[in-house]
Amino acid sequence: MINMTKLKLAIQKSGRLHEDSMNLLKECGISINNGVNRLKAEASNFPLEVFFLRDDDIPQYVEDGVADIGIVGENVVLEKEKKVREVEKLGFGKCRLSIAIAKEKSYNTSKDLEGMRIATSYPVIVRKFLEKNNIQAEIHEISGSVEIAPGIGLSDCICDLVSSGSTLFMNGLKEAEIILRSEAELISGKELKEEKEELLKKLRFRIQSVKKAGNNRYILLNAPNDKLDEICHLLPGMKSPTVLPLAEEGWSSVHSVVNENDFWGIIENLKANGAEGILVIPIGKMVL
Ligand code: ATP
Ligand code: MG
Repeated sequence: MINMTKLKLAIQKSGRLHEDSMNLLKECGISINNGVNRLKAEASNFPLEVFFLRDDDIPQYVEDGVADIGIVGENVVLEKEKKVREVEKLGFGKCRLSIAIAKEKSYNTSKDLEGMRIATSYPVIVRKFLEKNNIQAEIHEISGSVEIAPGIGLSDCICDLVSSGSTLFMNGLKEAEIILRSEAELISGKELKEEKEELLKKLRFRIQSVKKAGNNRYILLNAPNDKLDEICHLLPGMKSPTVLPLAEEGWSSVHSVVNENDFWGIIENLKANGAEGILVIPIGKMVL
């Protein structure tokens, strides 16, 4: 099958998104033979070719059709303003693009930025933020180590990516205002050939199954029969919980799926309603 259509995916070569991107493919059942320092690799069991690039270049490659799809931070997509479709948020690479100022300075509203010099690698996003809030400030574009700019007198504040805030703290800065919350997303060219759209659909279906499974847990528990109604009510499951009789008279085994976000609340209520022997198991894939 030499001429088989392949979907071309661009991911970060190395850096914060590389490993999670590779893991996502793996969880989607796609194996990639990635030799060290290679620019390109092929999947052995899905019609997919992977390009390893700097994250900044990915939107351009996708716009040009050199790659059909890409995985990149929303921050980069918005900054580059390329003609691409934002297809699917991926749930990793979460960070904030924030204004940070010297710890000892006060900051109440974005109006406090009036007249300031802001150092950033995100001039487009910052300019839009300033325009939207009607603020006159000076943008100094720098490509790296933005956090040192105030300390060396280059700027009054910065706008940069933050996750824990420890880099800011080490540089005597504090987060003053969040401009954007970002995570990695799947992007695609505006128009793909029909065969490639079909492949993208298949890939998205797998990604969605992996994402849903990641947020859900399989739960098994033993319930006294006279409490079954209350307990089943706490466990909506995908359709409704599975209830099986236990060998011991008057007891049943209940199986269901719960979401990680409401997990602890549900467990407490289950216990309060007489549930025993609660087991919680991760789910590999969830196909709905
Ligand atoms: P490249 O060499 O590919 O250009 P880079 O140095 O520009 O890499 P990384 O620091 O690896 O980029 O970050 C890649 C992406 O990871 C960011 O654009 C952002 O979407 C996300 N990210 C998540 N948390 C953070 C963080 N704390 N700081 C920076 N980026 C983060
Ligand atoms: Mg980069």
